[in-house]
Amino acid sequence: MMLNLEHSVSIVGAGISGIVCAITLARSRALEGYAIDVYEQSPRVGGRIQTNLLSNHYIDLGAARFCSQLHGNVYDLVKRFELEFEPFPFTQLRFTQPIQKELKTILSNLKPLIDEHKEDSFVEFVTSYLGKEKAKAVILALGYDSLSMPIISPHIAYDIIEKHPETQCFTENCGNEWFSLKEGLASLIKALYEEALKLGIKFHFESTLVQISNRGNAHSLVIADNQNQQKEISKGLKIITLPPSRMEKLDKQFPKRWSNYNYGSSPLFKGFFFYSEPWWRELGLTDHVVITQNPIRKLYFKDEKYAFFYTDSDNALYWRDVLSLGEDHYLTTVKKLIAEALNLPQDVIPNPELHKNKFWLHGVEFSKECCPKHPFYQTLSDDSVISLSDAYTHHCGWIEGGILAGKFTAESIISQLPTHRETVKEVVYL
Ligand SMILES: Cc1cc2nc3c(=O)[nH]c(=O)nc-3n(C[C@H](O)[C@H](O)[C@H](O)COP(=O)(O)OP(=O)(O)OC[C@H]3O[C@@H](n4cnc5c(N)ncnc54)[C@H](O)[C@@H]3O)c2cc1C
Repeated sequence: MMLNLEHSVSIVGAGISGIVCAITLARSRALEGYAIDVYEQSPRVGGRIQTNLLSNHYIDLGAARFCSQLHGNVYDLVKRFELEFEPFPFTQLRFTQPIQKELKTILSNLKPLIDEHKEDSFVEFVTSYLGKEKAKAVILALGYDSLSMPIISPHIAYDIIEKHPETQCFTENCGNEWFSLKEGLASLIKALYEEALKLGIKFHFESTLVQISNRGNAHSLVIADNQNQQKEISKGLKIITLPPSRMEKLDKQFPKRWSNYNYGSSPLFKGFFFYSEPWWRELGLTDHVVITQNPIRKLYFKDEKYAFFYTDSDNALYWRDVLSLGEDHYLTTVKKLIAEALNLPQDVIPNPELHKNKFWLHGVEFSKECCPKHPFYQTLSDDSVISLSDAYTHHCGWIEGGILAGKFTAESIISQLPTHRETVKEVVYL
């Protein structure tokens, strides 16, 4: 990376990766005196971390859980800010599909064969050993429809299955511990944002990067405010912390002129329901998750407070379409499918008193290669703009990846500053 040593840093995106990058730079003595500005298109920080307070309970409409064994950077930040956390109990899966009883053995027997199927999709891989019907049953039993996307290789599929709370019971990771924050993951973002403000980082909300322009020899960032007033940033360090789907919109030549990697994404949908009574208590479902074969897919019963479902890929699109037909249609469909999934008459399921949902068109983003060698950041060929994302890391699709990308890109910048040698001992890392 060739550094432009104007004393300013412009960061686009105030999601976790942008804020962590800004804080790591601001805490370094090597950047003392630099102005650090963050440009964010929405009126808030956090991006895909979004917590709502509903019926006195914090619900995470976006990212919700982290694992102490897999997500050490998240866990460290939670401890450092002394945020209250609690077990995310949904490693307790209630088996409702016969194949779930033998799934651990099936997956363990197939795992040694994945290297022979590098060019195949996970569906092709499983089908070649188990046949079409059983392969379909395996994917239905796992609850994540992304597993049937043609771009998901056996290697990535195993990574997904082993590193998700609902499916880890089918793998050697069954002992991993998962947590959520009592006040939602937005409380982590709030703590980071407050720290950023104390460090003098300036946030510009409703300021959208609309173009990466190329005038003269170098690239500059064109930012539009909510009045559509535009300004061009040509000097200083320019860092974009947007996921690949946004990069594609800004730069028709993404990813080609940035790297040799390719990217994909999956839509996600979450629906939350608050009832006057925890009707699931008598069914022994408190703190359990059920994987269904119908579009509900993963149904969670959070202590005695609320129930929610979470879907990805085609079934996330299904729920977006159901909602477009009106709230009544949505609630009737949810009730019918919950009853069907639990094998109960519909009238056992009451109507919710409150509900909330969120559809994310590009909920998770990942590199198709999912390669540990993928650099945490990429630059344009003239090195004038840096792009970083959780999708570039081996923790793609997770906030751990966002923290890694933000932190290590900043550390790499710091290490290349001329003053770095004298100041390296004083750099305080997150
Ligand atoms: C439903 C859902 C569930 C998830 N569950 C989990 C989970 O349980 N655990 C976990 O670890 N991860 C989870 N994730 C993934 C996690 O949310 C992301 O990996 C992480 O938040 C990515 O952070 P980021 O800063 O890289 O990107 P983002 O959060 O997407 O931040 C990018 C920011 O850039 C802004 N922006 C976009 N375009 C522009 C523009 N042109 N100009 C200016 N600003 C712009 C956006 O508004 C946003 O604030 C989940 C995601 C979703 C959607």
